[in-house]
Formats: sequence, C-alpha cells, structure tokens
Amino acid sequence: MSKPKETLNPFEIARTQIDRVGKKLNLDGGMLEVLKNPRRELTVHFPVKMDDGKVKVFTGYRVQYNDAIGPFKGGIRYHWNVSLDEVRALACWMTWKCAVMGIPYGGAKGGVICNPKEMSKNELEHMTRRYASEIAIIIGPEKDIPAPDVYTDGQTMAWIMDTISMSKGFAVPGVVTGKPLVIGGSLGRDEATSRGLMYAVREAAKKVKLTLKGATIAVQGFGNVGMHFARLMHDEQGSKIIAVSDSKGGIVSEKGFDPKEVQVFKEKTGSVVGFPGTKPVSNEEILELDVDILAPCALEGVLTSENAPRVKAKIIGEGANGPTTPEADDIFHKRGIVLIPDILANGGGVTVSYFEWVQNLSEFFWTKADVDQKLEGVMVGAFNRVWEMRESKKVDMRQGAYMVAINRVVEAYKWRGIFP
Ligand code: GLU
Repeated sequence: MSKPKETLNPFEIARTQIDRVGKKLNLDGGMLEVLKNPRRELTVHFPVKMDDGKVKVFTGYRVQYNDAIGPFKGGIRYHWNVSLDEVRALACWMTWKCAVMGIPYGGAKGGVICNPKEMSKNELEHMTRRYASEIAIIIGPEKDIPAPDVYTDGQTMAWIMDTISMSKGFAVPGVVTGKPLVIGGSLGRDEATSRGLMYAVREAAKKVKLTLKGATIAVQGFGNVGMHFARLMHDEQGSKIIAVSDSKGGIVSEKGFDPKEVQVFKEKTGSVVGFPGTKPVSNEEILELDVDILAPCALEGVLTSENAPRVKAKIIGEGANGPTTPEADDIFHKRGIVLIPDILANGGGVTVSYFEWVQNLSEFFWTKADVDQKLEGVMVGAFNRVWEMRESKKVDMRQGAYMVAINRVVEAYKWRGIFP
C-alpha cells in the first residue's frame, strides 16, 4: 500500500473535523478555540516492579477534554502506539460521542504506553493499579469515569475499582464502567458497542434499501467490538460474514462462516488466521473486498485518500474510533457510500456504560432485556437526529453527527457561561 498524502495524526484530524463543521455552523472564533482544546491533561511516569525483579517506568495519560454537559467519561487504552495526541483525539471524540447520543457526560480518555501482549497477568495488575493510583486525583464517580478500550477489559476495570475503593475504605463501583457483573457491572455491557453498531447499520440499511439477510460483511478487527458485531449480524440479522481479521492477519471465504466458531478457533490458536475453509487476506485487503457492509473495528487511520477510491462497500460502520481521514470522508461522500461515523456508530458502548453507572448510583439493577431495549431507543434516536441533519444541511453523516454534537455542547456553554 502506498502512503496517503494526508496527515494521520489523530488530534490534527479531530481538529480538522471541528473546523469543517464550525465553519458551516458559523461558530464564533472564541467558541471554536474552546472546542478545539482539551480542558485538562495529566501525564504520569510511574515505576512498576516486573516479574524478573527489575523496575520499569511506564508513561500514561488521562485527558479530560470537555465537561460542559456532564462528568468526563471515556475508556483507557493499553497499546505500544499510545501518544498524548492520540489520547487527546480519543478524548475529543468521546465529547462528541456522548453529545450525539444524548447522554449526560463530557469526554475523556486515558492510555498507557505498553505492550500488554508481552506482559504477564501479574505485571498488568501492578501496572494498572499504579496507573489508577496516579490518576486517582482526577477520577471518581462524580467527575471522571473510565471504561475499557483497546486491550483493556473487565479485569482491568475490576483492578481500578479495587484500587480506588481501597484508598477510600469502601467499595466505589461507580468509579469505572465495564466491570464484571458481580462487582456492579451491567448485563449487556460486553456486547453493547457491537449491538449498538448493529442497530445503526440496520437503520442505515433501511435508508439505502439493503436487505440485511444474506448481506455480505467484512470486519477488520476481531476484538471485543468486531467479534460481537460479526456474531450479532450473523445470528440476529442473518447476514453473511465473509471476512474478519485481527492484528496477525485476516481470513476470507465467499461462502461465509459462523463467527462463533472463529472465536473458539482464535481462543485456541491466538488468531483467526488459518481458520479451516478460509483463505488468508491482509488487513489492508480486507477493507477493499466486494462486500455490502464494511466494519473497521480496530484502530485509527486505516481508511485514507489512498484506499478510499477502492472501497466497495455500500455502508461503512465505524466500530473503531477514528478509522477514516477527512480526505477519505470526502471520497466516500462523493461516491455515495453511507458512512456511519464512530461517534454515532460505536456510541452503544458508552451508552450502556451510562446505564451501568446509573445502576451503580441507584443500586438497582436492570434485566438484559431492559438494557437492550433502552440501548435500541438511544441508538435509533441518535441515528435519526444525525440523518435529519445530514438531509437538511446536505452534508455527510460525520458532519451531520458533529453538527448535532457541537450544537449541544455550545448550548451548554450558552447556559453555563464562561467562568468567571
Ligand atoms: N472505549 C469506549 C469508547 O471509545 C467506551 C467508553 C466508555 O464506555 O466510557 O467509546
């Protein structure tokens, strides 16, 4: 693959997205500057004693981007490519995501530069607990509530919850979401991002008159989001999953396969690659397959001006945050491809995080049916708001979503005013 011409710096991309919409909304220059800057950034360098007895210093971040609407909210990512600009972008996107979904949170994100695949469970626990205690000064159920993201999960959240609870002297379940059920997690949180993505794709399919039964799907990324999305589309919509990939590569089969069997295979072998009855496909090629629906569910910056002209899908559902550059957005828009942007498409995760937090604060737990039904209502409502904005302003779905989100945050500033 040749190199795209445009920047792949996620925070530069996030700011371009704000600029583009700011102009169309005639936003005042001062307000635009407010929206383009994070409110608070914490960088921590902290030591962890590794299994071999040696001490290693890790760098982590927590960026609290904007809390005009409510407490900060957003996941924590463990990845070797984490950088301050990436965390800023992800925190910025959380702000718009919560606003577009209509849930009462601002946006934040955290990250630690590490390679979780090369660390033991013991090392991960110590790194997580020390990172949690480093950021403890700014997180809490009423101010900033972390959750899982790339390479973090319920176990990570349990360690953070325990670390914060130990220093308080009592259990504080509301400090994080995405927890295991027994310590205050919510039914349906594990698959929430994917279930929400399924609802969003279903609504988009209605608009473009695509029948989901038998529709072909390629999914880049087979982590929590991609795996559940493939499963739900296969089991609940009768769609044909013809390709999936993970960090080691991908698989494709024209006949399609059951993602649940691929999941079992991946648990045994460590990858989807080599699943019987499939051919190998690379992580670049999977984006250009001849499918009805493409779901990038891995990392940022994979759809660029370089490969966008070759994408064949009719609908793109962004399970990942930031997979598409603004230049690629323009190409998809011109080509009539309906792209459901990350801040809408994967908003089901933070929506059920909100449900989890509400259940924690009220100490009353809901059934799975309650969670799914409320999630569906929030997703369909947000989808329609964005679709209407897209129609009335004649913009693409991303700009429509940004308009809905930015309007809300700006309205919050109008009521609250600028302190002092
Ligand atoms: N990390 C997820 C996201 O990017 C979930 C955030 C949350 O639940 O707070 O939306």
